[in-house]
Amino acid sequence: MSILKYEIILDLFLDELIPDTKKSVSKGNKIFGAFIIKKDDLSFTISGTNNETENPLFHGEISTIINFFKSKNLNPKEYLFISSHEPCSMCLSAITWCGFDNFYYFFPYSDTESSFNIPHDLKILKEVFNINNGEYIKDNYYWKSHSILESISKLQNPDKEKLLEKAKRIRDLYENLSELYQSSKISNNIPLN
Ligand SMILES: [Zn+2]
Repeated sequence: MSILKYEIILDLFLDELIPDTKKSVSKGNKIFGAFIIKKDDLSFTISGTNNETENPLFHGEISTIINFFKSKNLNPKEYLFISSHEPCSMCLSAITWCGFDNFYYFFPYSDTESSFNIPHDLKILKEVFNINNGEYIKDNYYWKSHSILESISKLQNPDKEKLLEKAKRIRDLYENLSELYQSSKISNNIPLN
């Protein structure tokens, strides 16, 4: 895959998703979000952020899917689904039911649990589905999942270092947002906060 695709994805984190996430976190929501780009020209289509203070089902991916289907006649097969964090079991299913054949995530489950202190993704997979260490089938009948950071690391291009620096900036911004969320979460009514 071309380096351009990942450069565009990282830029959209910085220019679109993170500014929206900041607003959402300031209302007491989690730091999660997603956006969708078109496969053929990599153009930005729609984004969404976690809105659990309104409804605990409104994860970042769900908000994004709701926004996506507000436009009629879009074919999910023509789009790339980009998530800030590896999707939880509900969102894995939602992406499946919607007909996307892919998703890309920035932070893996292990980061969500350890760096961001939100263990529910791994815990639900284990407690409800008996899946250890988040090991769902990453390339299955319905879709293929991709780690953005692993994909960049595998690129055979000297310019990938610039992308990894950009990725570091993105991580720092999410860590700041996480501090804000964690310091406010005692006062929210989110069931799994
Ligand atoms: Zn989710």
